[in-house]
Amino acid sequence: MRNGAKSFAPGRTPGADCAVHKFRAANYPESLRVKRRPGDGRFVNLSGREARSIREVLKWKLGLGPHEAPHEAERNASDTPAPRVGPDLARIREPEPDMIHLTWIGHATWLIQAGGAAFLTDPIFSDDCSPYPIPRIPRRVAPGVALADLPAIDAVLLSHGHYDHCDVASLRALRSARVCAVPLGLGRLVRGSTPETEVVEAEWGERLDGGAAGAPFALTCVPAQHAAARSAFDRNETLWCGWLIDAGGKRIYFAGDTGRAGFFGELGAWIGGVDVALLPIGAYRPRWFMESVHCDPGEAVRIHRQLHARRSLAMHWGTFDLTDEPLGEPPLALARAAATAGLAPGEFTAIAVGETVVI
Ligand SMILES: [Zn+2]
Repeated sequence: MRNGAKSFAPGRTPGADCAVHKFRAANYPESLRVKRRPGDGRFVNLSGREARSIREVLKWKLGLGPHEAPHEAERNASDTPAPRVGPDLARIREPEPDMIHLTWIGHATWLIQAGGAAFLTDPIFSDDCSPYPIPRIPRRVAPGVALADLPAIDAVLLSHGHYDHCDVASLRALRSARVCAVPLGLGRLVRGSTPETEVVEAEWGERLDGGAAGAPFALTCVPAQHAAARSAFDRNETLWCGWLIDAGGKRIYFAGDTGRAGFFGELGAWIGGVDVALLPIGAYRPRWFMESVHCDPGEAVRIHRQLHARRSLAMHWGTFDLTDEPLGEPPLALARAAATAGLAPGEFTAIAVGETVVI
């Protein structure tokens, strides 16, 4: 049974005054609701595992943590970015009805077309994702679709405020988006950058219903294992999340930025299966530092299973060089993890930037 789907009422359209209506998702487990730290009210993870401190960044950068050798099969992984193909713009302009079209633009940016609506996740089209002038974190592969070639966007979905996911310059450049759905607390930053777009905040377990007549959608905010900050002083003052998209009778899971977590089992049981999950597979080394915020490919395979995803596509790799593993290592490790776990061929794959997968 699909709990979220049961409560989703196709045909319901929002009033002219607002682009989406917010609800509490039906039967959402209390154990998966937002938790705050007593005292200062900052958000915490459901697992109790939190991101490493700023002091530990120094330990990482100085190489003082435990030594980690890559698996034999990935020892010769190259440092080349994800492959890129030219986008199939004809297909993007006229998507097949009744199918989900997923185009990887790079990092955690996806153009998702389903049920007559278009969604854009964590849009970053900039050539750098560093919060500071130094050190720069340059983009290593051009966006798979140029901003100017995007179709009209019904909803932008943001997972959290980190600079590689919430890029204000890209949001400013996006003029057509009707709605921007963000986790709790991030609205203020985003509202200033997108005056033409209605910004709506949600917390874990809240659902936003919207869309045009004949093309309704529902966006459900779901937990992630991560952290949030825009500076050294606002750690976890805003929430982080994933998004579940219901559109055209299909269900798409966008994980945002996440580490492994036990809650995926309970969440997956509540959701009751997804047609496709978009899961991060990169930025995982060194494990002692990254494990609380970024899953590795093996953990991503586990999340794929916990979510009962029919298919999964990899993201958050090969675009920005954020961590210690070579840029080309994650898809090799994913292929090995998928085979070890006994996944069917093509069940969980890494695709090229610019590629469109139709499901
Ligand atoms: Zn992040």
